[in-house]
Amino acid sequence: MSKVAVITGGGQGIGRAAAIRYAEAGYAVSICDIDKEAGQEVIREIRNKGGQALFLRADTGVPAELEHWLRLTRSDLGSIDVLINNAGIGRSAPFLELKLEDWDRVLAVNLRGAFAASQYAARIMRDQGTGGAIINIASTRALMSEAGTEAYSASKGGILALTHAMAISLGPFGIRVNAVSPGWIETGDWQLSSRSVTPYHSEQDRLQHPVGRVGVPDDIAKACLYLSGPDAGFITGQNLVIDGGMTVKMIYE
Ligand code: NAD
Repeated sequence: MSKVAVITGGGQGIGRAAAIRYAEAGYAVSICDIDKEAGQEVIREIRNKGGQALFLRADTGVPAELEHWLRLTRSDLGSIDVLINNAGIGRSAPFLELKLEDWDRVLAVNLRGAFAASQYAARIMRDQGTGGAIINIASTRALMSEAGTEAYSASKGGILALTHAMAISLGPFGIRVNAVSPGWIETGDWQLSSRSVTPYHSEQDRLQHPVGRVGVPDDIAKACLYLSGPDAGFITGQNLVIDGGMTVKMIYE
């Protein structure tokens, strides 16, 4: 039977690329998203290529919906072996004006949702007795900032701390937990097909990356696949920054 990867926010962007990459690698894939049309489009694409895929509309800000999605996945696909906590939102606002309800929503979707999905999935992994892998999608904004990004940055900083805490708690069950921190990843061409746009990047956009380009969703998807597979069996509690070198570049201008 195929291993099963579950991905939050799998309808578009990085989550969509991960769903397709895992399906190509032979996993059965289950995604949740708040965008029904996008989620259904992804599973249609996977099924058309002969893969096994499931979609349920679930909001990571609503723990009961996550639990329902994961239970359904377990009963329909047979197991849960990999969880990618990918769904994430931002609410940029000047610090002095950020509304508490926006802070709460960002933290609920990005951080509490990752905790809740991990707890439900880890219980299932523990009962299976075959171990597992959890990948939390953080951000380079967990480590550095522009103005007005407090809620998003705090949620991603929380993701990094959650990652090492869970790595310790879940180690005894054979569950490895790692974070991936993307830098600038262009997702314009990985949206629902009717909304998809051809990306444009200026020379300056490209040159601020030591590797000479902006990232693509598959840069992150491939890293997730590696971190969740047997070649990464000695890696847990880590944060892999994937940003084309942007955050290690000094700027004296
Ligand atoms: P995206 O907006 O392209 O796709 C996100 C998907 O998640 C969408 O399909 C959306 O409908 C879904 N989603 C949003 N809120 C949800 C919720 N409450 N429950 C379930 N699904 C929900 O975003 P992306 O750029 O692919 O980002 C994916 C992850 O990567 C996020 O956690 C984001 O913070 C992180 N990230 C992205 C970048 C980047 O440059 N793209 C950089 C750093 C971190």
